[in-house]
Amino acid sequence: MNKMSVFEHSEFDGHEHVAFYQDKTSGLKAIIAVHNSNLGSALGGCRMWPYASDEEALRDVLRLSKGMTYKAAMAGLKQGGGKAVIIGDPRTEKTSDKLLAMGKFIDSLSGKYISAEDSGLTVDDLKTMGGQTEHVSGIHGKYHINSEPADGNPAPSTAYGVYVGLKTTVEYALNSELKGVKVAIQGLGHVGIRLAKHLHKQGAILYVTDIRPENIEKAVREFSAIAVSPQNIYDVDVDVFAPCAMGAILAADNIAKLKAKVIAGAANNQLAKEEFGQLLADKGIIYAPDYVINAGGIIDIYHQSITSSDKGLRDHIEKISETLLEIYRRAQLQGIATNIVANQMAEERFG
Ligand code: NAD
Repeated sequence: MNKMSVFEHSEFDGHEHVAFYQDKTSGLKAIIAVHNSNLGSALGGCRMWPYASDEEALRDVLRLSKGMTYKAAMAGLKQGGGKAVIIGDPRTEKTSDKLLAMGKFIDSLSGKYISAEDSGLTVDDLKTMGGQTEHVSGIHGKYHINSEPADGNPAPSTAYGVYVGLKTTVEYALNSELKGVKVAIQGLGHVGIRLAKHLHKQGAILYVTDIRPENIEKAVREFSAIAVSPQNIYDVDVDVFAPCAMGAILAADNIAKLKAKVIAGAANNQLAKEEFGQLLADKGIIYAPDYVINAGGIIDIYHQSITSSDKGLRDHIEKISETLLEIYRRAQLQGIATNIVANQMAEERFG
């Protein structure tokens, strides 16, 4: 049995280019996948992870790379989708020789793939890779969002995009401004805590959870939030549920518990299965497709690599609202789930 068949792989989906690389001197083993570059060079993070097998690494890079094509298209970027993975434990196996070898690997694709930060790699690691290639992005921040330091961290832009998208969705679904609206936030990390700040400023009432008690305490202290335990966050009687921790949390059991009429949060791959989008629609819940509402980070990385301005970055992030409204209108008109409409719109743009 050919376990590593690439063309027949269930996640292959017509990828344009998949490259495997081994550098014997440093021990680097890595894969770069370019899903589609019809709209421009493929932009996507480089992840370092202790994959149990090459097959697992291949599956991950193909799945993530395809996701980036859809995300870039819906964010209105002249950019395609790609991703890279380095096989290894970032805590024990990361060396500067491997990062330099990764830089050479990226450079060998002559700009067809542009790398950025992802799990297991830091902005400093990207800078090391940048010693071998100019095709790394998100390392020299130039433009600011909400006066935060332009240090290559895309979280402030992601949080601003989620805030803007959530506000628009509340206006659309509940015909309400944010004042007095109850929002449950799952996860108060880089994005969640900033989202909490934006919402508090607008008078929303926050119910918050995290697996780190100190994060909850901060939100209670600074934003008068109401603390909820991680296991009870699906049960609270709120208007909006904002997943900002991990993926695959929208599964049948949690969906059955939800009282919210809007789901709008930063987490990637929120739906455990695509078909759960319809389950949400059947319950009358408006779901803001994750890769549309959380695109502020990729928009930030894109603007840092072109000649733009603080305003240019901000205006672009605010376009997330228009895109979401188009999705909701089409979903209503066609009677189909918002996640499916988003996929269709992305395919129209990059296809
Ligand atoms: P983060 O790691 O800084 O924050 C995640 C938070 O969730 C942490 O505080 C963690 O303690 C908490 N958490 C983990 N498991 C939890 C659980 N079971 N219940 C409650 N809380 C839990 O990550 P982040 O950068 O804030 O990103 C949040 C999500 O948004 C992730 O899914 C990420 O992939 C996605 N995202 C982030 C960006 C970005 O710019 N950072 C961009 C797009 C998407």
